[in-house]
Amino acid sequence: MIEDGHLISTNPASGAEAGRVPVADEKAVIAAVERAREAALWWQSLGWDGRKTRLLRWRTLLVERIQELAELAELESGKPVNDGIIEVTAAVEHLDWAAKNAKRVLGPRRMRTRLLLAEHVGHLEYQPYGVVGVIGPWNYPIVTPIGPISGALAAGNAVVFKPSEYTPVVGQWLADTFAEIVPEHPVLQAVHGLGDVGGALCRSGVQKVSFTGSTATGKKVMAACAENLVPVVIEAGGKDALIVDADADVAAAAEAAVWGSMTNAGQTCIGIERVYAVESVYDKFVDAVVEKAGKLRTGQEIGPITMPKQLDIIRDHIEDALAKGGRAVLGGADAVQAPYVSPTVLVDVPAHSSEMREETFGPTLTITKVRDADEAVQKANDSPYGLGGSVFGKKDAIRIARRLRSGMVAVNGTLTFVGMGNLPFGGVGESGFGRIHGEDGLREFARAKAITVRRARSLLPAMTFERTPAQVQQIVKALRLLYGRKP
Ligand code: NDP
Repeated sequence: MIEDGHLISTNPASGAEAGRVPVADEKAVIAAVERAREAALWWQSLGWDGRKTRLLRWRTLLVERIQELAELAELESGKPVNDGIIEVTAAVEHLDWAAKNAKRVLGPRRMRTRLLLAEHVGHLEYQPYGVVGVIGPWNYPIVTPIGPISGALAAGNAVVFKPSEYTPVVGQWLADTFAEIVPEHPVLQAVHGLGDVGGALCRSGVQKVSFTGSTATGKKVMAACAENLVPVVIEAGGKDALIVDADADVAAAAEAAVWGSMTNAGQTCIGIERVYAVESVYDKFVDAVVEKAGKLRTGQEIGPITMPKQLDIIRDHIEDALAKGGRAVLGGADAVQAPYVSPTVLVDVPAHSSEMREETFGPTLTITKVRDADEAVQKANDSPYGLGGSVFGKKDAIRIARRLRSGMVAVNGTLTFVGMGNLPFGGVGESGFGRIHGEDGLREFARAKAITVRRARSLLPAMTFERTPAQVQQIVKALRLLYGRKP
């Protein structure tokens, strides 16, 4: 809600005001980007080691104030504090990894030359874009922005960050604490408002945009960025699947399915929404899931639904699944009791129902019986989304993981890939493109720059009008020698 030039966020459990921040207009966004442009030059002048030290100091601040940050996230998003603590833990991992590895991944290196260019040496380095715009969602208001912010800052960019309208105070906290560590220049700023402020950021002159949010908004962001050919990373929605193979540890798979689908009240981009269990373990798996999910309590492990309008979507999906022949083995039609949704497990849900095709973003899970792992993979891949996924099994688990059409897969776990600083994160299809985290996530925020330097006179000059026909023949001879043999 906007009132008197301020964006006000509310606590989803109580409806009380959680905090307020000043709203930016288009002019203010452009001014922030202008300030960031200056700041980026100073930030780059610190060099790899200077930036690393400051980023690691910010990391330590996050660790020292982890409780405060998790409580703030609970106040604004309803996320239970212990879940917030785990979220900060993942964010710290990414910040630490990016800070410590940026120089190795992006720093200058010499490249070997091939025989025909032996008198040259190649240099490769990754230069920062300048100012990166980061647009974030509310469901993980700490780790989703810190992933791209870490990569962008470690690469030498300044960042202007637009948090979700539901979690602006957490976003401001991140910018303020960074400024405590780096008070000299506004290297990380937050700008607040509704979607139009995100749009203004795309058109503000930033040199790269990292967007995390829904697929529909991702398309708008891409269209806005296209106006000035601003490159984008799109981290969008998902409908992730978990496969339970015949040789799986069924109890562990059930525990992971419940955690993966219901943590953060199911409001997780990489949350498990569909399970495909092979028939030999199906009954045992369903029983175990119902037993474990049945113990979760709303208002305790299951927090409130952050966006009130999401409650209707969750209710619609459950009703559509039931109307089309699905059965609720836990929860069901009455699960939605604003602002909470109690755990709901559905079976026999047809593949064309909205519960199977669209992002539900609530603590619901469908379980489908399949003949074998092949059928499980085919059904799991029958989705426009392709973000993460999970496989439980032994003999074939990694082979199955490779066949899933998604950016990440956890074997005998769920969501685990988000906790590893050295692994890339991102989707395929309607889940987006580009990567954050890890080496790919660092390169996402830098331009590859190639430089060749001549070290001596050319023995076989090719790229000059001064070459002679005899020299061209010598080049052909050398070419045949080098590359002419059939493999
Ligand atoms: P939205 O797409 O609604 O919003 C994301 C961000 O974009 C918000 O800051 C929003 O601002 C902003 N925005 C809205 N309209 C525009 C616009 N026209 N131009 C630029 N920016 C705009 O997503 P949610 O916040 O609801 O987040 C939930 C979604 O995010 C789910 O689909 C989830 O799967 C996805 N997600 C993906 C992740 C991933 O890594 N792949 C991780 C976490 C979530 P405002 O809030 O003011 O509207």
